Amino acid sequence: MRAPSLKDYRVASPEISVIIPVHNESANIAPLCDALLPVLNRITDLWEVVFIDDGSRDDTLSRIKLRSIDEPRIGAVSFSRNFGKEIAIAAGLDHARGEAVVIMDADLQHPPEMIETFVARWREGYTMVYGQRTDRSDETRIKRGFAHLFYRLFSKFGEVSLPEGAGDFRLIDRKGVDVLRTLGERARFSKGLYAWIGFESIGVPFEVADRRHGQTKWSFRKLLRFAFDGIASFSSVPLRIWTYLGTLISICSILTAVYFLVRTLLFGTDLPGFPSLIVSVMFFSGIQLMSLGIIGEYVGRIFAEVKRRPLYVVAEHVGAAAQAVRPAVAVQDMKPSPSERT
Ligand code: UDP
Ligand code: MG
Repeated sequence: MRAPSLKDYRVASPEISVIIPVHNESANIAPLCDALLPVLNRITDLWEVVFIDDGSRDDTLSRIKLRSIDEPRIGAVSFSRNFGKEIAIAAGLDHARGEAVVIMDADLQHPPEMIETFVARWREGYTMVYGQRTDRSDETRIKRGFAHLFYRLFSKFGEVSLPEGAGDFRLIDRKGVDVLRTLGERARFSKGLYAWIGFESIGVPFEVADRRHGQTKWSFRKLLRFAFDGIASFSSVPLRIWTYLGTLISICSILTAVYFLVRTLLFGTDLPGFPSLIVSVMFFSGIQLMSLGIIGEYVGRIFAEVKRRPLYVVAEHVGAAAQAVRPAVAVQDMKPSPSERT
């Protein structure tokens, strides 16, 4: 075995890790690396890039491997199937070893030059530096409208506040990364988690570029699902609504009962109103089903959490960079208590 060279040492302890979730991004790998590596080299020699291949079915992984041969600081973790971007980010945080971790998309919508600004702010002492998109003009009106509605709902009901326009493009200090890694929830809403951990953070405005190759992987349905995941993970208001609504409806029904009682005593009975009966039966059964559905959503999430399956399954590691999983701090700290061991 040859002795480790200085280069190996550098690969072994990076200062900056860049994690990039990729799902069928074959055509973007080369342009991304060409744009990203010069930026990283300007910042430091001690960097690594960890791609998380989220079950790509094209030749994304082999293109990364090609790159990794020339540049050992590029590595990849390849999932056994598609687990979704949120989980891919979690895996990236698990495998990144840098003192600061940058999360970015592979489609060059997140300009790599911004990383220099991120790092500058991080060196000033910020734990979290996030890119804040200045406009959403690339998106359709409906999508923008829903995004806005989502932020309003979330800021009203969520337990944390989300800065509008902040996405996954960000730099997180090791301190923050280690905390994020201890949050083992399955229904991951990263934006909420970033806000939840707190720490000193700052936004840096940037303009979202157009997607370089391919199409967005997010359908409208997936986005809606994601929005509900976000609200459900950070708020129990959707559950509580039904208590209020139920109370209100009960009060109304008592008032109606009193009204009918008085009317019958004074004027006797007349022909019972079938239409109003049917309408109210339908209305209330609708409300009940809806509330059951909402409760079901939460129960489903509880079920997913209690199964405690691993978040993802790694099929393959590429390059030295992505081999070692740093233990999260809390895993070291959390020795089982005597009662748990028995
Ligand atoms: N992505 C992923 N898994 C998925 C969907 C997307 O890893 O199931 C990656 C994708 O390759 C890209 C990033 O997440 O690097 C953002 O995806 P996309 O550009 O499709 O989303 P948008 O920019 O439209 O929000
Ligand atoms: Mg994109």
